[in-house]
Amino acid sequence: MDVHCSTCGEPWDVYHLWHDAIFETGLSHAEAEAWAKLPRAEKLSDRYRREFRAVGWEFGQSVINVVRCPGCPKDAQPDLERVQTKGALEELLGDDEDGLAATFEDHQL
Ligand SMILES: [Zn+2]
Repeated sequence: MDVHCSTCGEPWDVYHLWHDAIFETGLSHAEAEAWAKLPRAEKLSDRYRREFRAVGWEFGQSVINVVRCPGCPKDAQPDLERVQTKGALEELLGDDEDGLAATFEDHQL
């Protein structure tokens, strides 16, 4: 399943976001492995958001809600309508990340 960046529209595979993207940050391999085992609510704590932001990732409330990605042109701004739509769906389906990913994909979000 693919979800799209809210800024540049680039498609990202949700598996990559859930399992691989963390290894592209400045965290050590052991820290990245530990991250994968965290409860979802802790995966985007300030510390991890900083690590992701340093390599170009910005997320909503979950890593499959991509607001900015490493492929974004430097000065590109997020599509606000897309950000709001994804935020609303995230609130509705937040506990069901598989369902959220499927919904994003269905709507090409
Ligand atoms: Zn992007």
